[in-house]
Amino acid sequence: MPAQTRLFMCLKDNFGVLLHDPGSGRTAAIDAPEAAPVEAALEATGWKLSDILVTHHHGDHTGGIEELKRRYRCRVLAPEGEAGGIPAVDETMREGDTVRVGAIEGRVIVTPGHTAAPATLYFPADKLVFAGDTLFSIGCGRVIEGTMEQMWQSMLKLRALPDDTMVHCGHEYTLANIRFAKTIEPDNKALAAREREVTALLAAGKPTAPARLGDEKAANPFLRADVPEVAKAVGMAGAPAAEVFAEIRTRKNKF
Ligand code: ZN
Ligand code: FE
Repeated sequence: MPAQTRLFMCLKDNFGVLLHDPGSGRTAAIDAPEAAPVEAALEATGWKLSDILVTHHHGDHTGGIEELKRRYRCRVLAPEGEAGGIPAVDETMREGDTVRVGAIEGRVIVTPGHTAAPATLYFPADKLVFAGDTLFSIGCGRVIEGTMEQMWQSMLKLRALPDDTMVHCGHEYTLANIRFAKTIEPDNKALAAREREVTALLAAGKPTAPARLGDEKAANPFLRADVPEVAKAVGMAGAPAAEVFAEIRTRKNKF
């Protein structure tokens, strides 16, 4: 049976999401920014929380873990390289590990850059990826604990997934990301199409996640640092892709 998801807002602009296996009844929260909206989503769906899969150690992704674990006795899985900074961890996840939520099976992709060793969770049969703060729609996370080179390598790992993968991410930043992306590629038609789509979604009070990875590959400048026109647009024709990526990320920090 295919996985079911439930998306909701937490804190100011964090996405919360539940991943549910209808066969076993198991339900995972991907991150737990705060407890109350997760509980409201559980109540609305009738699902029972069995697991929390944590992408990285930042407080806006972990703040609700302890309260939810007390209430539901759920299992907490966290990336091994960051488990020391995450509360109430039961099991750790490493690159290539298999993660199971009932019959739903995912693979751990470690994507350093935003933090030292975050876990991106990829569920191939369900065509879903949960990228935390590594990849946003038309954007990417700030490079805080890793290097620009590492973050670019992480972008390449995610770009290698199939086009029809739906990308869930940690924050509703899409419209601001599009405004920035247009300064890099003002004539990108896929970007213009995504802007129309996002504008309509937001006007209808709907989230802009999940995003189709194929659309992101065509429009997200952070996945396109090795495209010659993108390098040229930032005055770096012929430069290594990681350096072009670093230039785009640095510009975004100041935007
Ligand atoms: Zn973060
Ligand atoms: Fe965050």
